Amino acid sequence: MLLNNVKLALTASKVNIRVSDGKIAQISPHPFPATSEEFRVSFDNAIIFPGLINSHDHLDFNLFPALGDNTYKNYTEWGAYIHKNYKDKIAAVLKVPGPLRDQWGIYKNLICGVTTVINHGKKIKDQSGLITVYQDCQSIHSVQFEKKWKLALNNPLKKNIPVVIHTGEGTDVASLKEIDKLISWNLLKRVLIGVHGVAITENQVKSFRALVWCPGSNYFLLNQTAPVNRLKKHTTLLFGTDSTLTGDWNIWSHIRLARKTKFLADKELYDTLTINAANTWKLNSGEIAENKDADLVVAKMKNGSASNSFFETDPEDILMVIHKGKISLFDEELIAQLNSVKLENYSRIYINGTCKYIQGNLPELMQKIKQYYPEASFPVI
Ligand SMILES: [Zn+2]
Repeated sequence: MLLNNVKLALTASKVNIRVSDGKIAQISPHPFPATSEEFRVSFDNAIIFPGLINSHDHLDFNLFPALGDNTYKNYTEWGAYIHKNYKDKIAAVLKVPGPLRDQWGIYKNLICGVTTVINHGKKIKDQSGLITVYQDCQSIHSVQFEKKWKLALNNPLKKNIPVVIHTGEGTDVASLKEIDKLISWNLLKRVLIGVHGVAITENQVKSFRALVWCPGSNYFLLNQTAPVNRLKKHTTLLFGTDSTLTGDWNIWSHIRLARKTKFLADKELYDTLTINAANTWKLNSGEIAENKDADLVVAKMKNGSASNSFFETDPEDILMVIHKGKISLFDEELIAQLNSVKLENYSRIYINGTCKYIQGNLPELMQKIKQYYPEASFPVI
């Protein structure tokens, strides 16, 4: 597959990309000529960037509406509040079988241009190949919500894989102390990847290989977020959305919220979604370079610079999502150029009035979910 005439997000350099065997085979400043073996897609006024890496989500929780109507001190206060006040809403969503909820979580990410998601919780079985669901780590919920966390953390059989744990998700002293407790119980010196870290100090964060910043979720729950402007000196920052239980389905609104804090420069924020995550999770993706996995997103160039255009992207602007060299999603406007694509492998959906072809049968999935949970609301039709 040849992708002609796209601009790299942030730098605006014009490039042409050849994808072969699931990898980025060649990057050239000159458009590739047509060949008989490869099909060619030419773009007009479009940016390209690596498929986003969402370093924190709970795939099975994305049918929930955001629950909570207050500012809470920490996640345990919020947890107790929602179980008391939204019992029926929670029960209604949990009627949907887990595999259907997981599948919707995968689609939620794909329609935003995420090609890898780090799922927190029980390992899921997914053969869809729509995106990469990364599970080569140990999920421990948190010090407060996982009873046997000390045993799990110090399990010698898991010594060589990273531990991902919610930590410091609060603004009170208890949230701060919980982090010290976690660090002091890491007897095997496991690689720790913390999620949230709103209460974390510069000194504490040195004990973590990386911190997943989830500003959307943090502001919703706590009206505060992690001080990543100070933490960035001491650890690697990654970006996460968490589930719709605590925020918007659209990762781009989380990214814009993050940008508004001015805690990170544009390039630093971009790196949390791409190269930092790829390096931390040891993925062969996260950058546009030869021999990397062809996880790529092409989106309409909006007003202004290529950098602004990246941050102003929304799912309706996405023209193409490529996962390991295969097209997972494309906009209807490209259909004339994609005549060798097997349309029977895709379904048609509308996102904010634009028509996309998406791999698999998403309308059927939404219909199945509604049989269990008729109030389910989706951002696509
Ligand atoms: Zn979470």
